[in-house]
Amino acid sequence: MPRPNTVDDLWRYIDMRGEDECWPWLGSWGGRRSHLMPYFSAGGQRWIAYRKVYELTHGVSLLGSQYMCHSCDNGAHPVGCCNPKHVRVGTPQDNVDDAKSRNRFGLSKSVVRNIRNLLARGHTQQNIADMYGCSRETVSAIATKRTYGYITDPDEEEQLVDIQHQQ
Ligand SMILES: [Zn+2]
Repeated sequence: MPRPNTVDDLWRYIDMRGEDECWPWLGSWGGRRSHLMPYFSAGGQRWIAYRKVYELTHGVSLLGSQYMCHSCDNGAHPVGCCNPKHVRVGTPQDNVDDAKSRNRFGLSKSVVRNIRNLLARGHTQQNIADMYGCSRETVSAIATKRTYGYITDPDEEEQLVDIQHQQ
């Protein structure tokens, strides 16, 4: 029986060519027949291969709301390019339709809290907008609580509990 994959095995399924060439995915494909994705599984988890490549290369954990863009246009089947130099986190300029559809559905609580955190840590609104693929206006509206004001920060909730304890 073949031993189960570990995360490091990801690289074994990638045809690592020249530094600037596309690196085809040699592993399995899944998802809808019309929209196949290169999938990598290890330790009971499954990732989109080039997404995991991005996380490992940059030492980050991507949020569910962050999606990948290929500068080479070879992300789809049959190439599924995994060259980290060709993959980056998308911005609305890259894919206006995608950004529009996500704005329509709104941002999740955790994303709103993350954006507030980043603002508090001194990130610019434009920087955050690029990170999340939303408009700077969206970030600005969150900063002033013009939108999503109903989402409280976890810290505020904890403080409320403390006050109740003292009474
Ligand atoms: Zn490529």
